[in-house]
Amino acid sequence: MSKIINVSKSPYAKLKTVPVGSVRVNGFMGKYFETLVNVTLPTQYDLLESTGRLDNFRIASGKMKGSYRTLFPFDDTDVYKWSEAVSFALANREIPELERILDSVIEEVKAAQDEDGYLGTYLSGERKKERWTNLAWNHELYNAGHLIQAAVAHKRVTSKDTLFNAAKRFADHIYNTFGPGKKEGAPGHPEVEMALVELYRETGERKYLDLAKYFIYARGKGLASVPRNPGPEYFIDHKPFVELEEITGHAVRALYLCAGAADLYLETGDKKIWQALNRLWENFVTKKMYITGGAGSRHDWESFGEEYELSNKRSYAESCASIANFMWNFRMLLATGDGKFADVMEQVLYNGLLSGISLDGKHYFYFNPLEDFGRTRRQKWFDCACCPPNLARFIASFPGYMYTTSSDGVQVHLYEKSTAAVDFKGSTVKIEQETDYPWSGEIVLTIETDIEEPFSVHLRIPSWADDFTLRVDGKALDLEPQNGYVKLSRNWKGTHRVELLLPMKPELLEAHPFVRDDLGKVAVRRGPVVYCVEQVDNPDFHVWTLVVDSMDLREEKGEILDRKAVFLKGKGRALSISEWEGKLYRKISEPKEREVEFTLVPYHMWANRKPGAMAVWLLRKV
Ligand SMILES: [Zn+2]
Repeated sequence: MSKIINVSKSPYAKLKTVPVGSVRVNGFMGKYFETLVNVTLPTQYDLLESTGRLDNFRIASGKMKGSYRTLFPFDDTDVYKWSEAVSFALANREIPELERILDSVIEEVKAAQDEDGYLGTYLSGERKKERWTNLAWNHELYNAGHLIQAAVAHKRVTSKDTLFNAAKRFADHIYNTFGPGKKEGAPGHPEVEMALVELYRETGERKYLDLAKYFIYARGKGLASVPRNPGPEYFIDHKPFVELEEITGHAVRALYLCAGAADLYLETGDKKIWQALNRLWENFVTKKMYITGGAGSRHDWESFGEEYELSNKRSYAESCASIANFMWNFRMLLATGDGKFADVMEQVLYNGLLSGISLDGKHYFYFNPLEDFGRTRRQKWFDCACCPPNLARFIASFPGYMYTTSSDGVQVHLYEKSTAAVDFKGSTVKIEQETDYPWSGEIVLTIETDIEEPFSVHLRIPSWADDFTLRVDGKALDLEPQNGYVKLSRNWKGTHRVELLLPMKPELLEAHPFVRDDLGKVAVRRGPVVYCVEQVDNPDFHVWTLVVDSMDLREEKGEILDRKAVFLKGKGRALSISEWEGKLYRKISEPKEREVEFTLVPYHMWANRKPGAMAVWLLRKV
């Protein structure tokens, strides 16, 4: 039962999740999974040790002398997210060495827990008296959230309750501390809301759901924030959640809060929460989200900018914000079955999320610019290392996002070469996907089941697909998608072949004219993949001067490191920059330009080769 979130009893979830371990990916995401197991998880463990993050637990438990070894109060969460990643990876692969290490890590974590259930290494020893005195900055509830999520994942996958019992004790401590008639408070960094709802789902104990609800409704009262610098809006504490109209503040905080509020909705059907979530979603997707699915356009306070403020060179688009975006949209999808949410999941996945990790699996972007002069490179680690283990847990849990079930059948949300055994009405539906997605839109699904009664298979038709063709057992079907899905209803007993063709072709996109950064520019997308121009493929001109005004792009098979991809080639013009030598401005005159051939590569694969300039948005006719 290795589900990421378990909504099987959630009254307002139209769709039900499937276990991570019921789906094996072996295509595009399969490569990421292989690299995760072989490189990412072992190297991250070494870094948790060498940077002192595990020593923090040893110091808190008294096994080691010294004081807190790292910089930030939330460094425990790197250990928790790594533990969650290993747990979900174990759902699909026996990795005895990593499982043994995980068990030893859990022993260190457990040993650091206090008698009263409190668990957190930053405020241990001399600093114990500071506990729960600074909710805005000390991240104690954020830490608890990641601990609970890791513990639930670990229990679901391994059936061991070693970490789970510790997490539950901490959750009980928090429940006994906060709430009506107790201490008033709200998390400075949302995250625990999702975790508490999941703990309710795992245990059936309503108090955890009540506490999540309390924390969401406690916002807007100054309990989670500081009055100035950066002030309540950064913490999303400037208004009650149900009154929010615009997505603002720290991007990861805002999006985790929305994901937690969506979890609350799935359990309670709270209409005001639901209306707020939909208002915020509209505002985000139509005015504040990058074409890569990235979120947060300001480095200042890692925050959302104003509406249409989407700087490319200074885009923040933190990797964690992309993951939070995906997680929030998945919960909205479960509530509605509406493909517009799965479209955003796909948009962020293949672009602004996977750009966060290098193809070698051991370098990371914290922020993900859409334009660069060649200085931004992925790093092995960060003092503030939230993104690397978050990327690891996302990749490990990815198989659990591909399918859901409903009362009438099975939904296929994401396409990937894979095999799945989905439980439906007490029996199994085996689904094999043969595809080279996202490089090819040809998907062959083999569906095998013993189920006697008819049911439906719902296939997502992405919003980028202008057209599609569909055959079942060789017979062409002409169906209209409803809410982004075509519904194939029939008796599926036996083995059946479904062929879906989503025609992929390069397309030029433009942005709303208010996005001043993108005015007079085009972005190139093929299927769900957004492209960029990178200097390393285009040595004859500076890529910032490339002018593209033709749709005439040629597809070519390419490879970066060992990963295959589709590259795009075309003819454009490059502005001359030599005449600008020694000048920043001049009186306007005809630009000098020359014809050039250019190559575009998928944005998520950029910065894996020689450093150089990059741009997603390309100049259009100047
Ligand atoms: Zn991060």
